[in-house]
Amino acid sequence: MEKQSLTIIAAFMIVIMLVNSAFAFYTDRKIRKITNDIQSTRIQLQEKDKQIKQLNDAVTEKDKQINFQKDEIHKLNKLLQSKRGKWAEALAMRGRITGPKIAYLTFDDGPGPHTYQILQVLKEHGINASFFVVGAKAEEQPDLVRAQFQAGHAVLPHTYSHKYSEIYASKDAFLNDLHRVEHTITSILGFAVPKIFRFPGGVTNAVASRAVMTGIVKQLHGEGYIYADWNASAADTAIGRNKDTELGNILNASQDKNEVVILCHDIQPDTHTLDMLGELIKTMKARGFIFKTFRDISDEEIYRLSAVGTINLNLEKLLGN
Ligand SMILES: [Zn+2]
Repeated sequence: MEKQSLTIIAAFMIVIMLVNSAFAFYTDRKIRKITNDIQSTRIQLQEKDKQIKQLNDAVTEKDKQINFQKDEIHKLNKLLQSKRGKWAEALAMRGRITGPKIAYLTFDDGPGPHTYQILQVLKEHGINASFFVVGAKAEEQPDLVRAQFQAGHAVLPHTYSHKYSEIYASKDAFLNDLHRVEHTITSILGFAVPKIFRFPGGVTNAVASRAVMTGIVKQLHGEGYIYADWNASAADTAIGRNKDTELGNILNASQDKNEVVILCHDIQPDTHTLDMLGELIKTMKARGFIFKTFRDISDEEIYRLSAVGTINLNLEKLLGN
């Protein structure tokens, strides 16, 4: 009986020991696993720390770049301000340009019935003028065109056909017409004409649509053309005019101006323009004007004319900026 009890106790103890060692084995495994987890988490943490440090360095670098850019912007702003100051100065100069007063006498639409006599008057007074010729007319009197150029006058394109409804129908129509008159002059004079011309009716003519005119101006400006308008018209195509009204129109318009581009025509059948020409030249000279042409015009003189809006007029307005 006692032996039996001892056996049972021994068996019981063995079971307990087995359970205990199984539990210990299990716990050990668990601890090892947790330890491994901690280890790998620590490694991840170190990795993250490294990344944070790298990001911090990157932020510092970006900060440096931003500050550098800020400095650059500051410098550029200062530069812009000084340029604006210079520009304002240049604008202010407009009103008080001190060079000689210059008149540019121009004749459109010829050569015509009195062009030859006009050349004689110009020669008598020792001045030159600019002739914006019509290609179709130039072809009729090529010798006269050559005589104009040989006497020192400017011979420049106006239009080939002078038919407003055709040339202002589209940009291409205008450019074709312009290139045709350029070609006509070139074949008469034997060399390429400079890129200076006059729009029939001026750049603000009432025939071409705004879209067509903008297209033409944009293209020709991009190609370096200068288009010359006028700021003193003889109004020598108006009804009821005579030599005195023409002279008065020009002299009135010239008052208080330092740069005058005078518009006349050498295509009219009458002689009103021819008859007032000598007196006009004398009076302008007495008022301190010298005469120049678009052939001997300097870069500074081109600037002066564009500053008063007599060449390349309304370009900004036409382009909408
Ligand atoms: Zn014309």
